[in-house]
Amino acid sequence: MPKPTDSSLAIYRIRVAVPVYLYDCFDYKLSAEQYQQAEVGARVAVSFGRQNITGVIIEKLAPDAPIDPRFQLKFITELLDETAIINNKVLSLLTWSAQYYQFPIGEVIHTALPTFLRQGKPYNLLARNWKVLDLAAEDKVKRSEKQQAAYKILKLHPQGTQENILNLSGIETATLKAIEKKGIIRCELEQQNFTPEPVQLAQMPLTANDEQKKAIQTILKAQNKYQAFLLDGLTGSGKTEVYLQVMQEVLKQGKQVLVLVPEIGLTPQTISRFQSRFHCNIVLLHSGLNDTKRLQAWQSAQTGKASIILGTRSAIYTPLPNLGLIILDEEHDLSFKQQEGFRYHARDVALYRAHLENCPIILGSATPSIECYYLAQQDKLTRLELNQRAGAAVMPKMHLIDLKIAQKKQGMSTQLIDEIKKRLDKKEQVLIFLNRRGYAPVLICESCAWQANCPHCDAHFTLHMKPYSHLHCHHCGTINRLPDSCPQCNQQTLKPIGMGTAKVEESLNELFPDFPVLRVDRDSTSRVGSWQKIYDQIQKSQPTILLGTQMLAKGHHFPYVTLVAILDIDGGLLSVDFRAPERTAQLIIQVAGRSGRGEKKGDVYLQTLRPDHPMFEIIMQQDYQTFAKQTLADRQLALLPPCRYAVLIRCESRSQDENQKFLSEMTQQLRQNTEANLIDIWGPIPAPMERKAGRYQAHVALLSQDRAKMHFYIRHWWQQLLQNKPSSMKLTIDVDPQELN
Ligand code: ADP
Ligand code: ZN
Ligand code: ZN
Repeated sequence: MPKPTDSSLAIYRIRVAVPVYLYDCFDYKLSAEQYQQAEVGARVAVSFGRQNITGVIIEKLAPDAPIDPRFQLKFITELLDETAIINNKVLSLLTWSAQYYQFPIGEVIHTALPTFLRQGKPYNLLARNWKVLDLAAEDKVKRSEKQQAAYKILKLHPQGTQENILNLSGIETATLKAIEKKGIIRCELEQQNFTPEPVQLAQMPLTANDEQKKAIQTILKAQNKYQAFLLDGLTGSGKTEVYLQVMQEVLKQGKQVLVLVPEIGLTPQTISRFQSRFHCNIVLLHSGLNDTKRLQAWQSAQTGKASIILGTRSAIYTPLPNLGLIILDEEHDLSFKQQEGFRYHARDVALYRAHLENCPIILGSATPSIECYYLAQQDKLTRLELNQRAGAAVMPKMHLIDLKIAQKKQGMSTQLIDEIKKRLDKKEQVLIFLNRRGYAPVLICESCAWQANCPHCDAHFTLHMKPYSHLHCHHCGTINRLPDSCPQCNQQTLKPIGMGTAKVEESLNELFPDFPVLRVDRDSTSRVGSWQKIYDQIQKSQPTILLGTQMLAKGHHFPYVTLVAILDIDGGLLSVDFRAPERTAQLIIQVAGRSGRGEKKGDVYLQTLRPDHPMFEIIMQQDYQTFAKQTLADRQLALLPPCRYAVLIRCESRSQDENQKFLSEMTQQLRQNTEANLIDIWGPIPAPMERKAGRYQAHVALLSQDRAKMHFYIRHWWQQLLQNKPSSMKLTIDVDPQELN
């Protein structure tokens, strides 16, 4: 392609990441003046196909750069931002993420933006106030219905209305701008204040114990450079105090701190621990915010006004001009991994971000992932231990109950029931853990063995009794009514088998009528504020039974709980997933860790039908470190992740034959086109749940010791998969998968 030499021939172009499911970026033309103004990291409105969409500039092309003949060059519609809104470091992080997780860059960039900015609304949306100048201008808008409607509403509020609120009532910015051109209305900008407030200590730090001191000092040596720490500290060992004291020094230097917690960890209690220590601007970023609040919080973070940014998974992509420290608490928690769409792991992205930003990062957990132990073994993480509980608290005592021989009442051993009674009588609190919501997991007919199964999935229906009795499939959402008699033999002999939290709640109310039972699961906390109410009640020192699913396992500090009962964890011992032992051990230790965190010593009772399972031997000692080291050694022998790197292709279509045929052909190609022995290909095999929502699922797992090389080969192959697949087939790619179904 000949290069233009004469400047009049120069073609000004930018490369734009657009939010469509395509792996390319697209080039657009713009005027010389716009080209001057355009900044990498700023938004731009462009037309794509027939749509008008919001993209982000990721490159300014040299005016004499060759033109890619595949594309028809179009002009941009409009530059939306005067300056970049995503800084270079975060743009690099996003580009890296798109490459690493093999997801379209435009879609990835969108995860970093609040909804309003994705929609192409002005950056200063919340400061824009529209006022009427001419109160008798009906004539001038009579030719447009949209303008008439907008004008009418504006006239009702002579003091002005925020653009954001007008948008919500269906009035588009374009309409407002059109009326503005006629001189009838005007947009007034309110002053937006983005200057950071000085940080002050609102409360004195606790006197750190020796282990805490050592951890704090070691981390502080790494200020202003990249170093990754694993704070491996028992439940209740005071990890949060370590975070707070390290943060104090970083904040003192005027830097920002990004704190990531699991979705459910972002409780009022966690927030208030940070708020009561520091007087400064703290913002929250999580999925429960409405679009206005989210834009506000995001802008505070992105401009540097906020000093502490407390968020869940996706907050890792918030642009921060002054980042000085990243903390990721409960590092092992699965909610850091996005399991659909853009499947990234916030922990791994956070490690890469700290590296880009040249700042330290602390990963904290009482039950670190085997991934982290592996990184520590390779000296990529500095492991710091806290081996005693902080303050006066001591570790709880563990007891195993053999359900095969125990006397039982309503699914609980009578010994456990007695112990619960004793604690409640002493005005202490009890936590009962069962990781299964609903009333019962199975409904069967006692006469003919019929089972209530979902017609669309390979799964049982769960029986729910509230707000009315019904059958619910937890995999596809199907709801059926509860039959009066068996659909197969017509007998009235249907019987629920097993128990879920709703059933246990019923039993507990019968067994302990004098004490309140608070149930915490997705069904009982779906209403806004209900979790907060339960929280407030637990913080009062009154005898209470707290019952719930894994929502209760996450890092909470319940000072009055002295007995924890784990009713049934046997499912985790039977699972085919190689990570099942790790997850089960983490769950047991985390739930157990809620006991005895205050002044009184705690107990933990674990019911099982398999008391001789080898895992219990170590777990009963609460020796997670030994367990983890052993598990890592096992993985090393079996060449399983993290000792080899994995990529999982999931395939879904109307028939398993179609899946198998397509995947077999494609894996054959991969085999032929890569170096021998570089990638181990497992499959295609049917997924553990073969049929889900009426569609058939299959997998191919790819494993290799050489991550870079494997990713290189798979990149090309994945594009071919997408091009060659039948149109009704759905394919997804999961790099470093955490789950096999
Ligand atoms: P973790 O996050 O490791 O589970 P927490 O940070 O919740 O532990 O600490 C458990 C309890 O111990 C909290 O009530 C906390 O205030 C207290 N604590 C932490 N460090 C100290 C210390 N150095 N002296 C006294 N109490 C402490
Ligand atoms: Zn029957
Ligand atoms: Zn189903």
